[in-house]
Amino acid sequence: MTKWVYSFGGGSAEGSRDMRNLLGGKGANLAEMANLGLPVPPGFTISTEACNWFYANGRQMPEGLHEQVAEALAKLEKLQGKTLGGAPMPLLLSVRSGARSSMPGMMDTVLNLGLNDESVQALAESADPRFAYDSYRRFIQMYSDVVLGVEHHDFEAILEQEREARGFETDTQLSAEDWQVVIERFKALVIEVNEGPFPQDPQDQLWGAISAVFSSWMNNRAITYRKLHDIPESWGTAVNVQAMVFGNMGDTSATGVAFTRDPSTGEKALYGEFLVNAQGEDVVAGIRTPQYLTEKARVQAGSDAPSLETLMPESFKEFCAHADRLERHYRDMQDMEFTIERGTLWMLQTRNGKRTTHAALKIATGMAEEGLITQEEAVMRIEPTSLDQLLHPTLDPKAERNVIARGLPASPGAASGEIVFTPDKADLLTKEGHQVILVRMETSPEDIQGMVSSRGILTSRGGMTSHAAVVARGMGKPCVCGAGSLKIDHKAGTMMVLGKVYKEGDVITIDGSTGEVMEGAVAMLQPEVSGDFATLMKWADQARRLGVRANAETPEDARAARDFGAEGIGLCRTEHTFFQDDRIIAMREMIVAEDREARRAALAKLLPLQRHDFFELFKTMRGLPVTIRLLDPPLHEFLPKGEKEIEEVAAAIGTEPSRLRERIIELTEANPMLGSRGCRLLLLHPEITEMQTRAILEAARDAAHQTGEPVIPEIMVPLVGMLPELDKVKEVIDRTAEEVNASSEIKITYTVGTMIELPRAAIRAREIAQSAQFFSFGTNDLTQTTYGISRDDAASFLGHYQEIGLIEKDPFITLDTEGVGALIALAVKEGRVTKPDLKLGICGEHGGDPASIRFCEEAGLDYVSCSPYRVPVARLAAAQAALGKKATS
Ligand code: PEP
Ligand code: MG
Repeated sequence: MTKWVYSFGGGSAEGSRDMRNLLGGKGANLAEMANLGLPVPPGFTISTEACNWFYANGRQMPEGLHEQVAEALAKLEKLQGKTLGGAPMPLLLSVRSGARSSMPGMMDTVLNLGLNDESVQALAESADPRFAYDSYRRFIQMYSDVVLGVEHHDFEAILEQEREARGFETDTQLSAEDWQVVIERFKALVIEVNEGPFPQDPQDQLWGAISAVFSSWMNNRAITYRKLHDIPESWGTAVNVQAMVFGNMGDTSATGVAFTRDPSTGEKALYGEFLVNAQGEDVVAGIRTPQYLTEKARVQAGSDAPSLETLMPESFKEFCAHADRLERHYRDMQDMEFTIERGTLWMLQTRNGKRTTHAALKIATGMAEEGLITQEEAVMRIEPTSLDQLLHPTLDPKAERNVIARGLPASPGAASGEIVFTPDKADLLTKEGHQVILVRMETSPEDIQGMVSSRGILTSRGGMTSHAAVVARGMGKPCVCGAGSLKIDHKAGTMMVLGKVYKEGDVITIDGSTGEVMEGAVAMLQPEVSGDFATLMKWADQARRLGVRANAETPEDARAARDFGAEGIGLCRTEHTFFQDDRIIAMREMIVAEDREARRAALAKLLPLQRHDFFELFKTMRGLPVTIRLLDPPLHEFLPKGEKEIEEVAAAIGTEPSRLRERIIELTEANPMLGSRGCRLLLLHPEITEMQTRAILEAARDAAHQTGEPVIPEIMVPLVGMLPELDKVKEVIDRTAEEVNASSEIKITYTVGTMIELPRAAIRAREIAQSAQFFSFGTNDLTQTTYGISRDDAASFLGHYQEIGLIEKDPFITLDTEGVGALIALAVKEGRVTKPDLKLGICGEHGGDPASIRFCEEAGLDYVSCSPYRVPVARLAAAQAALGKKATS
């Protein structure tokens, strides 16, 4: 016979903390506290397996459950010296849900179970009549709502009428007799709505409640919560049936919640609140102002209401001892609930407490320093992505917000500013001292200056790897993408949402960590890198094997990357440096050039600019490796658009706008992301490679000269699919490098490697490694080409795929380890057959994603490269990946 029921209380338990999957979080911890000898009201837990059986068998109770519950109940009655529904002192029960991970408020609870017309009298005689009748009416209200489906507000309406009839303002003014009148009306309401009387038999009450808790696993709230938090339906919920204890039995009774450390700052001090003569829900409901637990907190807050420490010193001392014991036992900060019934302390719940990132760092480093946990455990305790909270301004959680739209959380941080619809306007207003948010349907390379000027970026189209998202992340600027409900009319200068029109100059706030768009300015908290943060990062660095580099082009980004601990540049996208105003014309001239001579002329203008950029980059990163990728521009992003731009470029190259228009048509591609990009362009126009190699080598030479330290540039060729492509480009690189070195006393050593971002390159990696000194996996393109879905517009159906459960995660955010990952693993193996010490990295967006970093550790890559602002996240994720691997091997 399957064991469905596990008893606890009276100093022991059948379960323990390790049985979380079977008993749920609450049940497992109640058992654990009972085993520790803490004062837990006795009870029993019905397992999650019983819940799963219930659903697998048309909502029937499993065989044997009735007998096991009866047995556990008898044990409980004996322990308490009371009987369910009996006299002189009836046993009352609480029936609560409890899943493996906490789902606060999503499922149902019934309190005061066991009261009926008879037992309420017994309770009134042995306790206090007012308390007894108040408890009974609470029970009828809660049970009828949860089990019988009678609406809560119908009861509230009766209550209000009775209060008004007596001229009372609060429930506490009602006497025992008044409550008896209310109870009769409540029972009449139940008969009317439920077509049957309120159940008087405590056994019927108990089974009704158990069944309702099981059923609440499938209510809409619970289903939505599970979806949001990745909790599988198959876990089921346990049911905890427990003897009631009362915090509302007069002035020697109280109830409260407490944390062993401050959950917002992490400070090591008992933190919590309580109410005298109250039930648990009164603390949460916020109708009465709770009092502080400790004297210190009371004084700090300047409160007149006495602390628990002075009001009930014995219970307080006992509680402190339990709290301390629990924290040391669980080796983590605990979140506890307690009740004091007529001077007797009861522990109702304990669990690992939720905390802010700031507090999490303080607690983890603090506990390691106290010797409670190891440094490695401290590193494992912090969720890497939560560090984002510390690296960008964030919305003050206490501030009010009016959310008008939601998009993708494309780049973390929050920003407020005036709406602008064009990059030029963004630039202009910023120069005049305004703070602006650039609102666009989507962004393109020529918007870059406007993006730089803006506090944040909001688009109505595009996914997590759209131009706006990638560039914003690179800049560390907040960005919300693909907020589809926005109707943007940039010509009219309006944005419409929820039937309201917003104009240029209206202030909005975006939160790139949640994807929310809000009306008006919302208060912010500024980022602060605390000492604990640095300490934890140091420990993470000691634990990790993977190197962490950054994707960066500008000296500012490179400096930010270094400050955040990057160990080099893994990807400098050279085309990104062409976005600024003064360069884009020359870049366009180069692209639309009709012959080699014209192209060379345009390239000659770009050479000094590039050399200067690279020089700055090498200087900033002195002593660290820098990978510079040769030009990889999706051409369509650079072709002049609109009359104004066409005229500008035509004038610059001395041709007619009409001829330029024809040229643009010639250059237009149907699938530009799979067109003349990367090495294809370099093969069509070797003079681009010549110019860039020259710029890189000369900059390296100048930087070496100035800093006195050698610079070893890593030149990377994009979009290679076949060895000959790489060889042909490499020929040009080597020839040009030889020329530069021949003309200078300082000889620059360099390496040439390739991106692996096409399936063919992964498959032919053994061969390609003959000419490549390193591989860097471009997983943005590799994902695009492996799936055959365009990274630019996949968002339109990937969301649907996720909704209908076809895929779990967006493969452009979290690496598809089965498909794309298999190609990476193959390329790693094949590449190292040719060159056992081939250097391997990743520079797609996945390089900053913790789950993908775990894969990179497994695959044996040497480093990951991500945007500067994700470097700390990547350092921590890399440490956790290494520690996780150590733990399993
Ligand atoms: C990639 O494809 O993963 C990559 C890093 O290059 P880009 O995003 O510039 O195409
Ligand atoms: Mg690419």
